[in-house]
Amino acid sequence: MLNYDALIVGGGPAGSACARKLVQAGRRVAVLDREVFPRTKLCAGWVTPEAVADLELDVEAYPHRFSTFKYIIAHIKGFTFKLDTPQHSIRRFEFDDYLLKRSGADVYVRKVKNIERENGDYVIDQEFRAPFLVGAGGTRCPVYRAFFRDANPRAKELQAATYEHEFPYDWNEAHCHLWFFDKGLPGYAWYVPKADAYLNCGIGGMAEKLKARGDDVKKHWRHFTDVLEKRGLVTDFDYAPKGYSYYLRGNVDVVRVDDAFITGDAVGLATRDLCEGIGPAIRSGHLAAESILTGSEYSLEAISTHSAEHAIVRKLLDYMFIRRHTPSSKSRSSKPRSSSDVRQQAQ
Ligand SMILES: Cc1cc2nc3c(=O)[nH]c(=O)nc-3n(C[C@H](O)[C@H](O)[C@H](O)COP(=O)(O)OP(=O)(O)OC[C@H]3O[C@@H](n4cnc5c(N)ncnc54)[C@H](O)[C@@H]3O)c2cc1C
Repeated sequence: MLNYDALIVGGGPAGSACARKLVQAGRRVAVLDREVFPRTKLCAGWVTPEAVADLELDVEAYPHRFSTFKYIIAHIKGFTFKLDTPQHSIRRFEFDDYLLKRSGADVYVRKVKNIERENGDYVIDQEFRAPFLVGAGGTRCPVYRAFFRDANPRAKELQAATYEHEFPYDWNEAHCHLWFFDKGLPGYAWYVPKADAYLNCGIGGMAEKLKARGDDVKKHWRHFTDVLEKRGLVTDFDYAPKGYSYYLRGNVDVVRVDDAFITGDAVGLATRDLCEGIGPAIRSGHLAAESILTGSEYSLEAISTHSAEHAIVRKLLDYMFIRRHTPSSKSRSSKPRSSSDVRQQAQ
């Protein structure tokens, strides 16, 4: 049996952020991830300046692709305008591996299956033991399944379905573009150039709304690639897109049970307007570490539910993605969190 102070399941941004803080405070930490890093993570790879600051990332010393956009070009129903939301672009393949190595934790390639509580400790697959457990395993996190699913069932109306491809491409257009609601898509499509001739193109939409009208993101892919072709953004390219889903922010009643915590996509923390999950994942990882180190309450209320600066943009996108015509929009999980309607269970 390998004994640690904390076991973290998942080595994405939530897991590595939590691990780094614990290791910096002198704790022995194991991160278990089913994948060998560097691994592919489907993601457009925008990160906010706030997330970069939270990570204390020295951009000059970061050894991989890193670009900065002062604004995003948004296309809505034939109108084009600039969204003043500064962003950076990275490749998750590189970024996650860098952050995980930087954390200083012991990293094991393990697909976590069984988690038990024995004499106040958590025991994973009869091989790893620790008094603290952090679930950072993304949408299919086994810690969520073992301890949190009953208290926080996934809210279907918050599920975002995506389809995307990242590939080497010698792009000419250096700006990031978003197309909202094209062909009735309850979401948006993106074109995100990366440094040194890489590109990420993808589509995301609210799964339940698509399903309700017999639609899916794959059907929108053809239209999107036609738009890229017509605009000369990507020409004569043979795509190989893949799909993945994750959850936007709703009410989350329980984020800690005894000494088990959940973070990032395991909770469902992506913003309700631009569907950004990296920054919230990092913040939740830091907050879990702080709670383990100081005994403070683990609360996610300080993590923003939206990305856009302007309230009107937040409200519009939230309404269009989640509330408008959502069949089960009255369910408890469809409402944004507020301090009055959230019960955080902490010991
Ligand atoms: C197509 C797409 C585009 C996106 N674009 C953006 C964007 O541009 N900007 C942004 O901010 N957010 C974006 N997001 C959301 C963002 O990718 C996630 O919110 C973020 O990765 C969450 O981080 P995490 O650490 O919680 O989970 P993850 O990054 O998913 O990491 C979870 C880790 O857990 C591991 N794991 C899972 N199960 C097990 C198991 N049983 N045992 C061991 N390990 C396990 C996985 O291998 C994985 O490495 C996008 C998402 C998608 C799908």
